[in-house]
Parts: sequence; C-alpha cells; structure tokens
Amino acid sequence: MIVKELIKPSSIAVIGASNNTHKPGGKVLENLLTGDFHGPIYPVNPKETSVQGLKSFPAAADLPPAELAILAIPARFCIETVRVLAEEKGTRAFIILSAGFSEESEAGAAIEHEVVRIIDEHGGSLIGPNCIGVLTPTYNGVFTTPIPKLDPKGCDFISGSGATAVFIMEAGIPKGLTFSQVFSVGNSAQIGVEEVLEYLDTTFDPETSSRVKLLYIESINKPGKLLTHARSLIAKGCRIAAVKAGSSSAGSRAASSHTGALAGSDTAVDALFRKAGIVRCYGREDLTTVAGVFMHPPLPGKRIAIITHAGGPAVMLTDTLSHGGLEVPPIEGPAADALKEKLFPGSSAANPIDFLATGTAEQLGTIIDYCDTQFDNIDAMVVIFGSPGLFPVYDVYDVLHEKMRTCTKPIYPVLPSIINVKDEIESFLSKGNINFPDEVELGRALARVHHTKAAGPEEETLPEVDREEIRRIIAEAEDGYISPRQIQRLLDAAGIPRAGEAVAESPQEAAEAAAKLGYPVVMKVIGPVHKSDVGGVVVNVTGEEQVLREFERIMRIDDAVGVLFQPMLSGLELFAGVKAEAGFGHLVLCGLGGIFVEVLKDVQSGLAPLGPDEALSMIRSLQGYKMIAGTRGKEGVDEHIFAEILARISALVTAAPEIAEMDLNPLLGTAKQVTAVDARIRIEKRN
Ligand code: ADP
Ligand code: MG
Repeated sequence: MIVKELIKPSSIAVIGASNNTHKPGGKVLENLLTGDFHGPIYPVNPKETSVQGLKSFPAAADLPPAELAILAIPARFCIETVRVLAEEKGTRAFIILSAGFSEESEAGAAIEHEVVRIIDEHGGSLIGPNCIGVLTPTYNGVFTTPIPKLDPKGCDFISGSGATAVFIMEAGIPKGLTFSQVFSVGNSAQIGVEEVLEYLDTTFDPETSSRVKLLYIESINKPGKLLTHARSLIAKGCRIAAVKAGSSSAGSRAASSHTGALAGSDTAVDALFRKAGIVRCYGREDLTTVAGVFMHPPLPGKRIAIITHAGGPAVMLTDTLSHGGLEVPPIEGPAADALKEKLFPGSSAANPIDFLATGTAEQLGTIIDYCDTQFDNIDAMVVIFGSPGLFPVYDVYDVLHEKMRTCTKPIYPVLPSIINVKDEIESFLSKGNINFPDEVELGRALARVHHTKAAGPEEETLPEVDREEIRRIIAEAEDGYISPRQIQRLLDAAGIPRAGEAVAESPQEAAEAAAKLGYPVVMKVIGPVHKSDVGGVVVNVTGEEQVLREFERIMRIDDAVGVLFQPMLSGLELFAGVKAEAGFGHLVLCGLGGIFVEVLKDVQSGLAPLGPDEALSMIRSLQGYKMIAGTRGKEGVDEHIFAEILARISALVTAAPEIAEMDLNPLLGTAKQVTAVDARIRIEKRN
C-alpha cells in the first residue's frame, strides 16, 4: 500500500546522510536540497555534527518525528533503524536505497523480510531496497542524476531496475520528456510495479493526474493486478507503454503439445499487453519515443502528411510509415496547386511536401495551415526541419511551436540537427515541446501506437457451458492426456462441435462402427499421442474389407489400445489451442492448420476470458486470414462459428482451470460448420 507520506511528506529523515556527494547518502541529500522540498530535512550521521549545512543527528533515536525516511545505510543496520522510526518517530514511508538484501543472500532476504514485517505492522510503505529512490512533485528522493524536469502532466514512470531507470530518463530528457513521478521499486519487497500502478489507478484524478504511464518490467509477478489496473487507467484516458525484458521461468517448461510449443511465456506477456491496451516497447529509444508520441494529442487516423526541407528523411519516414500500416496519401487538386504557387519553384506539394533547403519559416506556416484546414485526406503532420549550420533557425521553430498549439491536427516535430542547431532545439524544448530526432524511430512508434487498440470491455460475455458436467469429468480424470471418451464428453459439455465417433477394440466392433457412421470413414489409432507419425491415421476408408485390413495393421502399432472411427469430413483445416501460463491464466490460440501452424507459425493468441469479439479480431489478424474469408472463388469458413468455438474454449478452461494444454488440430471448417476432428487435452491438477 502506498501511503500519502511517500508521495507528499512534510518532513524527511536521511539515514546515512553524508558530506560526500559521491556516496548515495550524500547525493540523495544534495538532490533533496536542490529540489523543491519545503519541509524540514533531518540528516542522520553518527560521525558528523552538520551535514551539507544541516544539523546532523547521531542516530535515528535522536530524531524529531519524520514522515518519510530515506535509508542509505548497510543492510544489517536497517531492521533496528526501521523499528525505531516506525515505533517512536511516527515514520510511515520508507525508501531503502541500499543493496545487500534478498538480491544478494539468504541472510539479506531474512533482513528484508523482517523490515517489511515491521513496516506492514505499522501500516507503512516501503520502496526498495536496492533502488535509486523516488521522485514526486514534492521531493527529489533519488541518489542519481540527471533529475528530469518535473511536471504534473509529464510521464509517471515505474522501473523494476534502478540503473535502467536512469538510462531511460537520459534517453527521454534530450527529447524534451518531462516526468511527473518516478518510482524505482528495486527488490519490490513490499511495493512492486503492480502496486504502484494500482496506486496510480486508484488515485487517478482527471484534472491533475498525468495521463502517460511508462513501465520498465523485469518480471511480472502479479499479471492479474497489472491487467486490472492498466485496463482501468486506459479506460480513464491514460496511455501506457512498457518494456518487459527477459522471459519468465515458466517459458522454459517443456511443452509436449503443439500449443505448448507455439506459446512461449512471452506470448502470454504479449497477450496481456494486448488485452490491457499497453503499447509494448523493446528498448529505451523505443519507450521514450512512444512516450513522446503519447505527449501529443491522440492520432485521429492513419493518414500522415510529411512536411520537409530535405528529401532523405522524408523518404525513410514514408517507407517506415507504409510498412507500419500507416499512409502517406497523395495530396492533389486545386488546393495543392494553390499551395505549390506559394512555395519556391521546384518545391513539391504532393506528399511528402518538400519545400527545399531554401524553404522559409513563413512557408512552413503556410504549408501547415493548408494541411490543417484544406487537405481533408490528412489526419496528422510530421515536420522535418534540420539545418546544415549556415544560419539560425529560431524563426522556423517558433512557427512550429505556435502551430502545434493552434492547429487541430497533431504535429510531430523531427528536428535532426542536434549539433548544428543545439541552442534552437533547446529553446524549442524549453517551451514544453518534444523533439523526435530520428524520423524512423518516430515512424515505428506512430505505427505501434496506432495499432494498439484501447482495452476491450472489462466483463467478457462467455457462451454457456455445462459446468457441472465439466467439473464431473475433471474430477474423474487423472493428470496427463485424457482418453478419447473423456475428450468427447468435455467437448460436448462445452458445446464445441466434433466429429461423430466410435471406438472399436475388435474386428467385429470395427465393422459395426464403420457401418454405423456411414462410409467413407477415417480410422485412427488410440494410444500414441502423435497418430500420423506412427502411421496411425487412415483417411477415406470406403468398405468393410479395407476396415478389417487397416484394423489389423493399426492394432499392431506400439501402444495401440483401440481404433477410433470418424466420418470423413471436408473443409479448411483450422487450429485452436489453449495453454495454461503460470500466473496469467490461460492463453487461447488460433490459426490455420497444417503447414500454416507448423511451418509458418501463423498463430494469434489472447488471454482468457475471451469473448467472441476478441476471438474474431484474433482470427482476422491471422496472416492466412484470406483463406478463412475465402479466396479466388473458393468458399471460406464461417468466421463467426470459429470465433464462437474459441470463446467456448475460453469458457471451458474457465470452468476447468486444470486443463494445462489443449489442441484442436485440426478443426475442419466450411461456410456452414466448423468441426473438431482431432483433440488432445492434458490435465494438470495442482493440489
Ligand atoms: P494426428 O494429429 O495425431 O496425426 P489427426 O486426427 O489430426 O491425427 O489426423 C491427421 C490428419 O488426417 C488431419 O490433419 C486431417 O488432415 C486428416 N483427418 C483426420 N480426421 C479427419 C476426418 N474426420 N475427416 C477428414 N480428414 C481427417
Ligand atoms: Mg492432429
């Protein structure tokens, strides 16, 4: 829990404060003193009488009451200090900068545990240990530099790594990014990324809170919490970008089914971010560029005008936007001709709009006005304007600054000459603007933001399934792959259409089964998991003589215990699957069967619970979607039935979380029906 004393303390004690500003305890005090904190600061240092001009206290026990304590002392002294502060000084908020806790040793973990216990007992908050600290509008509680410009409308930034937090700020500051609050959670002993996000969500105020949240995460410890609060914040109008580095240990678990092999744990992270509406980033440039895009008004559409005085970057940006699914539409007609008249000869008013190296500030203003009011096929503008260093460009950036405030369409500035016109860029940024020095990074970020959909509805409406029957089957089942009979019952209880089936263990039963289902039939070995691989599937069996011959043969396959009969169906081969991912719940996957899934890995995934709408958008995102929609006169598959099946699978695993893996591969789909002809289900009951 985050208490208000952590965000807005009225007094701060620095335990281990030092005169040496090359030490964390010295630097954090210096940062506090140079920042905006107005309340009293109490340094504690047993060897000094004054620290950085402030009266120093020999020990925590000698302090007056302090709401927040920042500790920069060895781990072994922390328990006693925290106890004194919590019990005697009324301290409710703690930031422990020091390392040497759970990240280092068992003994360190024990200290960390005890510190948390004491703080919990007093209803307090702990950030860290092993972190760079906290920045809020009230105080600079970090021991590192640079201190970014603090602005209530800047980014709220939560980082699972202290050093990386510094590097991310260093990447963001030159672009003009400002920050509202920064939390480096270190070992997350009490408060992790998820808890800070929860705090930002529950205290969100549409008037005063920042709408941009940045996360750097090394491990997602509470996926459910992350999803809930990210979704909720996005629903309140926030935008969230996150880097998730590394993959969880769950990913290394051996997977025996198709679905298992297709869905690594990173797939679960992707699915969670998609469900929440978080823009996933992969590095510092990426994260800070997306943050810069978030600082602009939302992109209202995908048609971009590129306004430039240099050809190269405009071409590179056009390529990036086009590959990213955005458009740089041609600009034509009388208005375009009129604009061209106002530019120097040789300029182009088509898109990109190139007003040449000699282009002026006034011309830039005119072009922007045309894009804003005359060209209906434009949603937003990117202005590229650098300098070869011959003359200053203050006038150009002033026009840009003004137009960014008066135009209705968003304008993204690409000012690449970070050396030649360093001063002009600095002045531009000091007015609260953002610069994207690299047009390709910007193009990628715009595309990513555009394609990240806002979070879907909180409550998914799942199809009805026979829960009681499902629970009965699961109760009877043992861990591992369950029998064809149990699979049939589960699919029926979930309302997932399957081929009619019969099982035969003797030649006589085989002949009867085939006759009952009606020729042609398909015969499959029961026992081995991958049936075709051992010659255990025969399709299009047309008569009794062939049935008896194949029966004899199949029963001689190793581990064969019987033969499964199905009617021979036709249709497009589809794939659906489920995989349990520790902490995340279940991932539902879909794709086209055969080589599409096996070779091309053309699979989409979503996190259960998954309603039919989300399922449909997964189906439509498949690269091979055209095959489902129907191509070249070939009839496709009813995608709504397929989506309904995916939603039913989601409902099935919601009722039976013990399903660890499930493959329907293939389902045969036509315009009228989608039918599962092969299913594998693995159960894993965890006490
Ligand atoms: P496995 O995946 O264990 O090899 P399947 O039951 O998926 O076994 O069968 C292999 C292939 O045989 C399927 O991918 C499909 O092409 C075809 N097949 C299986 N059952 C039927 C059926 N009832 N109708 C038509 N084709 C089928
Ligand atoms: Mg199969």
